[in-house]
Amino acid sequence: MAQPISDYDPTDDGIRPGPDESVVPLTRRVVGAYLGLAVGDALGATTEFMTPSEIRHQYGVHDRIRGGGWLKLKPGAVTDDTEMSLALGDAIIAKCGVQADAVADAFSNWMRTKPVDIGNTVRRGIVRYRSSGVTEMPENEHDAGNGACMRSLPVAIAYWNASPEQRRVVSRLQSHVTHNNPQADAGTECLLEMLVAAFHGDSKARLRELADGLVAHDASYRFDVRRAENPSGWIVETLRTVFQAFFTNDCFESILTDVVNRGGDADTTGAIAGMLAGAHFGAGAIPAHWLKALDADVRRRCEDQALTLMQLDADIRPDS
Ligand SMILES: [Mg+2]
Repeated sequence: MAQPISDYDPTDDGIRPGPDESVVPLTRRVVGAYLGLAVGDALGATTEFMTPSEIRHQYGVHDRIRGGGWLKLKPGAVTDDTEMSLALGDAIIAKCGVQADAVADAFSNWMRTKPVDIGNTVRRGIVRYRSSGVTEMPENEHDAGNGACMRSLPVAIAYWNASPEQRRVVSRLQSHVTHNNPQADAGTECLLEMLVAAFHGDSKARLRELADGLVAHDASYRFDVRRAENPSGWIVETLRTVFQAFFTNDCFESILTDVVNRGGDADTTGAIAGMLAGAHFGAGAIPAHWLKALDADVRRRCEDQALTLMQLDADIRPDS
């Protein structure tokens, strides 16, 4: 499964994809997805919990990585979306696949670092794991938050060449450590299939078919309705917002600028839109000024982990 990585040059920021996006190599798509996640997180953290009119009043259009926001971040700093993804990715690399106890330990260790931001459902799951050793939360109809979806990129990369059923199994192993909800599972699994399709160079029309498949499964995900603004952390509102921005804009920068200016859970809509757009357009489509503004250590970890996960040949039969 190992792929040559020589076609990825991390210093090569400014190159735009050619007119045919299907020729972007796999390495640039997986690295683009990971950097897109971090850039979207860093960009959206500024406007998290703001309404679109508050954003307009304060920034006009928010289109640069400037930090601040309710977390008072340094410019280029990321939040739990990127940090939990890196923790999950490290656990996958260590075990050559998703093992629920290793994932739960990684999340627990991350929580010990006193992260600036942590979701309530995530905290509850980790606390429960620490006290009980149980790696699967009981199914809960109220836990359809976006917290498992936002960290799921490492699963898509490590299992890019596995079957959808194999991805579904490992996605639920990592998700259910904190979020056990069928609606959240469906949204996360749809995102994984869209990411993997994008890695393989599938067209935006094909990605749209996958999103439409989620809507056919659960009509609450319909996104061809009124404009989604100020989305909550409910995965349905998150993905509706991301899909509207992704399918109505035609480049990485416009997709991300659109989504973070809708406010609400903007670091997570930014992170998920960034993964999708980065996978679709490749790392070369991410504006150089955003990459330069991103925390240098985060950027390096994202690049390194993306390439390691891609070549992992992950175990498709997790034993936990
Ligand atoms: Mg966050």
